Amino acid sequence: MRVTILGSGSDGNALLLESGTTSVLVDAGLSHRKLVQRFTALGRDAPNNVEAVIVTHSHTDHAAHASTYATRFDCPIRASEATIASIRLRPTVQAHPFTVGRPLVVGDITIHSSSLPHDAPQVALVFETKGTRVGLVTDLGHVPEGLEGFLGECETLLLESNHDPDMLAMGPYPEALKRRVGGSLGHLSNGEAGDLLAALTHAPRRVVLMHLSETNNSAQLARSSAEAALGHQGTELLLAQQRRPLELDARQDGHEGQLQLSL
Ligand SMILES: [Zn+2]
Ligand SMILES: [Zn+2]
Repeated sequence: MRVTILGSGSDGNALLLESGTTSVLVDAGLSHRKLVQRFTALGRDAPNNVEAVIVTHSHTDHAAHASTYATRFDCPIRASEATIASIRLRPTVQAHPFTVGRPLVVGDITIHSSSLPHDAPQVALVFETKGTRVGLVTDLGHVPEGLEGFLGECETLLLESNHDPDMLAMGPYPEALKRRVGGSLGHLSNGEAGDLLAALTHAPRRVVLMHLSETNNSAQLARSSAEAALGHQGTELLLAQQRRPLELDARQDGHEGQLQLSL
């Protein structure tokens, strides 16, 4: 499965997942214009065969452009019932809810979902095709019980590492926002992301740190926390950015992939 992260962070999130025959966009927080620009930066055209726009939750950095994407790519929006109920969609757009916990099949990709603790109904997603699994876990205030099991055997894990608690505490955010971000329904800190990585019984071959705060985190802090948690397991560690796309090399997918970059 090829994963392209078009942007990740509180200014807007969007990803493209492509199996052999199926393409899905996940989250719609970048304007369509920005989305096209990000593909151009990668030397690619925007896809013309998107089968669904999957929205993890209703916050604007994930859902603001859902109607536009559905119209432009001529496909339905798929999201949990709670999310569809709380986002404003154009009446012409098709929105089909899925039930959290029940597999959703889109083309040859099966999508598993599990609830996450956040200040809007939110889901962790695992995308599965031909034995390859990609996990997406962002926008959670803490790691809920059972998440490690849900993510079992993901080869690629896209995991929030939002903030450094000290930078958040000393930073410019108003107190109420600091409490929200750092609270149990806010965002995952570097340390909490590391704890989850350390608890995984099956080390992913690749971890991408997501949704880094541009104000309350640094790439260095996020990276060193994740590296410490992963130890020397040969896991490739990458960082997604807010303003630049990141294309994960499809050749590294699948069980046969031998290219493992050490930390
Ligand atoms: Zn977000
Ligand atoms: Zn959110």
